[in-house]
Amino acid sequence: MSSNTRIEHVRAFRVWDSRGRPTVEVEVRLAGGGFGRGITPAGASRGIHEAVELRDGGATLGGLGVAQAIARIEREIAPLLQGRDALDQAGIDAALIALDGTPNKARLGGNAMIASSMAVLFAAADAQGIPLWQHLAQARAVRIPLPEIQIFGGGAHAGRRVDVQDFIVMPLGADSFDEALHWCADIYRAAGQIMHERGALAGVADEGGWWPSFNSNEAALDALALAIHRAGYDDGRVLISLDIAASEFGRDGQYQLALENRRFSTAQWIDQLCQWVKQYPIISIEDPVAQDDTHGMRAITEKLGATVQIIGDDFLVTSAQRVDNAAASGCCNAVLIKPNQAGTITETYQALERGKAAGWGTLVSARSGETEDVIIAHLAIGWNAGQLKVGSFARSERMAKWNEVLRIERASITRADFAGWSALPVKRA
Ligand code: PGA
Ligand code: ZN
Repeated sequence: MSSNTRIEHVRAFRVWDSRGRPTVEVEVRLAGGGFGRGITPAGASRGIHEAVELRDGGATLGGLGVAQAIARIEREIAPLLQGRDALDQAGIDAALIALDGTPNKARLGGNAMIASSMAVLFAAADAQGIPLWQHLAQARAVRIPLPEIQIFGGGAHAGRRVDVQDFIVMPLGADSFDEALHWCADIYRAAGQIMHERGALAGVADEGGWWPSFNSNEAALDALALAIHRAGYDDGRVLISLDIAASEFGRDGQYQLALENRRFSTAQWIDQLCQWVKQYPIISIEDPVAQDDTHGMRAITEKLGATVQIIGDDFLVTSAQRVDNAAASGCCNAVLIKPNQAGTITETYQALERGKAAGWGTLVSARSGETEDVIIAHLAIGWNAGQLKVGSFARSERMAKWNEVLRIERASITRADFAGWSALPVKRA
């Protein structure tokens, strides 16, 4: 180890996320002066198999306090990391996992562990004087990711006003990230205009997408298709992606749309989704069925997987093992990658690599509770994920990520190409 990258100080603090809730921030300082900061994001529609978020409980701050997580970092994680080489990310993450000692990171807290792991990664890049994406890419080729940008936000991010969680656009025909964002800005504006004309403009949901004042899930799809049309991108350049987040309204093979008071069996629900795919230009569907519905996931992957990206989020929870199992059993053809679902950077990377090995699409993703931290922009590029999901096109915890990719695109010494269609596990129709 060069003494330069030896970890000298690890400190933890309470900061605040985009929903005004407390979260964990970790600072790592190296002997040579290198510095890294990690901030843990937070989900609302969380999978049951995610790394456990350690919260204080009780009455203070609605039980969401992070004093225990911070104490774990100061008392246990800091002494573990001090003296180690920040360049040895895999060794550090393995030591964190061993120190935790539980299968789901319940003791140290996944929120304490991921902020520590992220801070080490940033410090290692800083010590070398290079951007994080470049530290991750080493000499490997990378692409600038295709963005998935939410236009209407529903589900758990909008008081369950509509059942479907994200109504998203994918600017597949763009030639650059800059152009892709321009198109999405046009569509976001057109959607806002449509809501305004209907007297249905009611602000934005948790990830910055327009608040979904609709009477049915189809009405939201209609409005999204209309926004794409009005903005002039309905010639196949921009297609629709849905995050159904079906674990929020489906359990034990029963799906209950609260908005429309309709109940579906798994088979009926899959028929409904196939109907939407026929009616609307949908190229991607995330968590189409609930996290426990393996039969349903296999059935919809069989039915639609040749032409539609089928993403596992709650279904796979950024777990290499779950990705392997799903690939072996014909479930999904893409994986959503959220660092705090896994709890360490190394496990996050492993889940992404297993997805790539299966020939899947890979999307690095934000959470609904975010901060100014831009690590996911760097992970998506440095790991050549091909796709990046950050939420909508408003609010600076979202825009910080989009703007970071723009900076990397314009500065890119590798002249990385924009991923576009190459990011999908399916071919252009
Ligand atoms: P979450 O939502 O961060 O609330 O889990 C994001 C997603 O479901 O993709
Ligand atoms: Zn999701």
